[in-house]
Amino acid sequence: MKGGDDDLQGSFEEAVGRVRRAVRTHTEDQSVGEVAAQLDAILTPRKVVLCDRGSEQAFFINEANLAIEFEIAMVRRIAELMADVADASSHSNDEERRLLQAALAEYVIHELTHWVQGFPDYTQVPDIKNGIGGEGLAMLDVAADCIAARLAALAEMEIQGANGLTIEQAYVNNLVLAYLLGAQLFPAERRKHKLQRSLGLLMSATLAQADSLGAVNRDRLFSGWRPTQPLFAFDPGGNGVFNAFVLDRPPAILILGGKPPPRLLVEELWQRLGEPNADALIELAAKIFIAMGVIDKSVLLGGKLKLGVGLTLAR
Ligand SMILES: [Zn+2]
Repeated sequence: MKGGDDDLQGSFEEAVGRVRRAVRTHTEDQSVGEVAAQLDAILTPRKVVLCDRGSEQAFFINEANLAIEFEIAMVRRIAELMADVADASSHSNDEERRLLQAALAEYVIHELTHWVQGFPDYTQVPDIKNGIGGEGLAMLDVAADCIAARLAALAEMEIQGANGLTIEQAYVNNLVLAYLLGAQLFPAERRKHKLQRSLGLLMSATLAQADSLGAVNRDRLFSGWRPTQPLFAFDPGGNGVFNAFVLDRPPAILILGGKPPPRLLVEELWQRLGEPNADALIELAAKIFIAMGVIDKSVLLGGKLKLGVGLTLAR
């Protein structure tokens, strides 16, 4: 391993420790408890280590050694990305460490949730793709993202009150982090289902934030909607539709009838997906939701969305 990787190793071990505690502690959580219990069953008998195989695969299961081995290259890229985020928004070293812990915890939970979802091993991905197509994979991804955002937020709450963040703020921030990890670790991919995953995360972050401000008009949404439910956005296509599947039991349509979305804003948001400046994209999503009567315009203050903590990655 290269120089500087000792720090990385330490950060990774700390994040894994948080994940272990979180999945053990939150098996009763209403939205992620069942998954937490399954993750706990995976993690308890196994050690989690870094490896340097030079593979594109995120992790390997080494049952002979009862080990889960995460490829160090990806962990290194996450650390670099979080350093960029912290630099761009002039966050302190403490804030950079907090971001890195949240991002690593989300990454580990996201990947292990794929195990729970039935494809632990990336060698299975081609078979799965043949069966369910890119959209199916993106749905599994956005579901893993939301579970990871919630569990990583719960983990953060256990650390000294998480710098005064509420669980709702930590969850919104982690959704934004999930967007950044998805969009920036594999940039320049404008495949439709990847964009739908990104858009779903931004819709979730916007609605969760509006909900924490008491500004969601619930009569415009699927009656069972909760901020923790994964959203898989429709492809706006040429007709500017703005809606999503709620991946609940049963799956449902998020937005019920009512005012149409402003087509130009939907087009602009779709075109800008993948940009690092998540705040600006969430603001656009908020304006669309407001025009549709889904959220109240009180979430905008002087034209700016009231986010819990800024995660702008300006370039
Ligand atoms: Zn994934």
